[in-house]
Amino acid sequence: MRKVLNGLWKLQKLDIELSDLATKKESIPQKIQNESKKIQVKENELQEKQKVLEEHNNQRRKLEQEIKEAKDATVRYRSQLLKVKTNKEYQTLLHEINTQEIKVSAYAEETLEHTVQSKELSRKVEELKKEVEKSKEKFTEYKEKLHKELNQVEILFLSKEKEREKLVPNISRAILSRYEQIRKSRAGIGVVKIFDSTCNGCNAILPPQFVAEVKKGDRILTCEQCGRIFVWKENVD
Ligand SMILES: [Zn+2]
Repeated sequence: MRKVLNGLWKLQKLDIELSDLATKKESIPQKIQNESKKIQVKENELQEKQKVLEEHNNQRRKLEQEIKEAKDATVRYRSQLLKVKTNKEYQTLLHEINTQEIKVSAYAEETLEHTVQSKELSRKVEELKKEVEKSKEKFTEYKEKLHKELNQVEILFLSKEKEREKLVPNISRAILSRYEQIRKSRAGIGVVKIFDSTCNGCNAILPPQFVAEVKKGDRILTCEQCGRIFVWKENVD
């Protein structure tokens, strides 16, 4: 029976390791995804800023065209001034010239605003570009590292699984299914090693006579409170 108990203990240790490895295996793709999302957020911000920058530039170009047209119109009107015959025509042209000049100065002011905004945005866009580039480089390294890690975890997982497969035939079906049942209902822990008079699973106090029975190790004893199978510290590897 001691051999069986020792086998159960080994099985429990393997199952804890397997469960830890499985958690790790699952967490790696999640970690990669999280990091990739962070880069996506930065890239979106960059695109958004680039779009606004482009809008400012377009507006500026439009205004520059408008200024050119207004200036051309002014030149045209001025040349017409020399040819007019009536005072009314003269006044109308002066008024037009004035209107065009007001336009030019208003557009020039607007252009300046767009230029200031563009400069600020260009600076931010360049900064963000560098940031995104750096993040991508780091991400590539990070991904490689995690893929290696995942590979190692998978190899270890398979080897532990094989160990488990070798161990299982040494334990009777009845005992094994009892262990599995307890393990399922007790957060993965079906067997606990005891060192003194307390259950290492639920902290229940165990009577000395009961502990003495566990020490003997000639039958399967379980915790009255949590149902876990006991093994004595010196009886197992
Ligand atoms: Zn217990």
